[in-house]
Amino acid sequence: MLDDQDRIFTNLYGMHDRSLKGAQARGHWDGTRTILQNGREWIVEQMKASGLRGRGGAGFPTGLKWSFMPKESDGRPAYLVVNADESEPGTCKDREIMRHDPHTLVEGCLIASYAMQAHACYIYIRGEYIREKEALQAAIDEAYEAGLIGKNACKSGYDFDLYLAHGAGAYICGEETALLESLEGKKGMPRMKPPFPAGAGLYGCPTTVNNVESIAVVPTILRRGADWFASFGRPNNAGTKIFAVSGHVNHPCVVEDAMSISFEELIDKHCGGIRGGWDNLKAVIPGGSSVPCVRGENMKDAIMDFDALREVGSSLGTAAVIVMDQSTDIIKAIWRLSKFYKHESCGQCTPCREGTGWMMRVMDRLVKGEAEVEEIDMLFDVTKQVEGHTICALGDAAAWPIQGLIRNFRDEIEDRIKAQKTGRVSAVAAE
Ligand code: SF4
Repeated sequence: MLDDQDRIFTNLYGMHDRSLKGAQARGHWDGTRTILQNGREWIVEQMKASGLRGRGGAGFPTGLKWSFMPKESDGRPAYLVVNADESEPGTCKDREIMRHDPHTLVEGCLIASYAMQAHACYIYIRGEYIREKEALQAAIDEAYEAGLIGKNACKSGYDFDLYLAHGAGAYICGEETALLESLEGKKGMPRMKPPFPAGAGLYGCPTTVNNVESIAVVPTILRRGADWFASFGRPNNAGTKIFAVSGHVNHPCVVEDAMSISFEELIDKHCGGIRGGWDNLKAVIPGGSSVPCVRGENMKDAIMDFDALREVGSSLGTAAVIVMDQSTDIIKAIWRLSKFYKHESCGQCTPCREGTGWMMRVMDRLVKGEAEVEEIDMLFDVTKQVEGHTICALGDAAAWPIQGLIRNFRDEIEDRIKAQKTGRVSAVAAE
């Protein structure tokens, strides 16, 4: 388990002072000017050496992403955009950073922007995060007043402005190009890629979009050293990570621990175990609602990192761990996610617009067992037609939970269909 002195987020639970004074007392904003004086190349190289992979779900190496930004400006400004539109069911980690430890993010924005020569950074925060927005804005105001950001930020000679933009509550605006559209005042609809944001992003200018956690860990990595960060987790899965555990555990929580912690340790040490004991574990969605579920028995020994979870047929995603015990109607649980993705589809491309509705309607019937067994394969087939055939990843996000359900719980779906046909009430879904 991670030692307290190795935690980056020292106020995740809001037990201490979140103001600038409190943040500085806990070591934030310490030596920021020296970090900037080391130069942008040094910062990017350190980030690469740290092994940090993006914490928003895709796991793309952060330092590498930064290095895609133009080295020399062609006259256009560069921007950093922070994706704080945390809206995926089960995911609630960035929220704790913004409301309890906001200065980690503000300081990270300055350093990351400097590394990419962005003089302006926009944080796009989820519409429902009202209190989080207030806390973050207060931190931004304090940083301006103290001269840490703004003109001649931290007396480094670098001018830097930080803006907080409030979304209106659409999940799709968490997709990076939809977010840029929304920031520009348009409807939040994803753009075709290429061009990628590093070439033409916000207002057609070079832009990097990073997740809140990815940016908030930057100052501590640079203060303590890339080697320190890289010493946690397995190779290619470095660092500390915030896990958000919800569902049928005794104490659901958001906790920072080392990457590659075992699922069993995460649950037993931080969450007081599975409700009703390990034998009562039915399924786990290990990385937020868009990744496939895994059967409980395959999850117990799983390692919580990018590579290991791929080996069990799922993904680390945002590390939002949704635990379901034997009392769960797993078909209904996945149906609920289908309903969510259908609702949030922006409707721009046909496989997603039509497919999410089609999949949800089949799931409607599977929940009640009112379907034919052959339709299970047909549904799986449709998920494959949607996956990878859409403008953005929402199509995949709608397809994968259903694929996980069919791969892992086909017996249960078939049993329900048979039960419905024979009138065997015990296997039919609860209302
Ligand atoms: Fe919109 Fe869905 Fe297409 Fe994404 S995949 S652009 S959400 S219709």
